[in-house]
Amino acid sequence: MPKSAKLNGIKSLRCYTIPEAAGVTGVSDRTIRAWIKQGLTAMTDERPTLVRGDALISYIQRQRQGRKSRLSPDEFYCLKCRAARKPAGGLVDCETDGTRAKLSAICETCDTIMHKPIPPDSVPTLAKTFVVTLRGKLSQKANAASETTARNRH
Ligand SMILES: [Zn+2]
Repeated sequence: MPKSAKLNGIKSLRCYTIPEAAGVTGVSDRTIRAWIKQGLTAMTDERPTLVRGDALISYIQRQRQGRKSRLSPDEFYCLKCRAARKPAGGLVDCETDGTRAKLSAICETCDTIMHKPIPPDSVPTLAKTFVVTLRGKLSQKANAASETTARNRH
C-alpha cells in the first residue's frame, strides 16, 4: 500500500534537496522525482535539485484534492474553504470554446472564485442546476465554431 505524504513537517520557506524532501514527507526519493516530472515545481538548474517547501505543500494538497470524493454536479471545490461549496445565488459563468467548457462561480461561503471543467456536451443541461451566464466573447466564438463545423459538413 502506498504511503501517503505528510504535510506537517514541511517548512514553506525552506528549500529541500530531493532526499530531504523525501524525508520530510515520508515518501521515497523516487516518488519526489516522479512528482517533479509530473509538475512539482523544482529548481532543477541547481545542483543538487532543490524543491521549495511551499511548492511541495501545494503539490501534495492538490494531489489530495484530486483524490477526494467527486463533487456533486451543483458543487465546486473552493480552494480557500478547502471544501465542496455551492455557487453564491446559484450563479455560474460558463466559458466554452466548443471542445472544452469551464464553469466559474463565487463561493457562497467566502466569495472566492471557483472553477471547474465540465464536459462541453453537458452545457445545455446546466440551466437545470444553475443560473448560467454564457460568456459573451467565448460563446460567440463557440457559435462561430459550430457554424463553421456545420458549413464544413457535407
Ligand atoms: Zn470558499
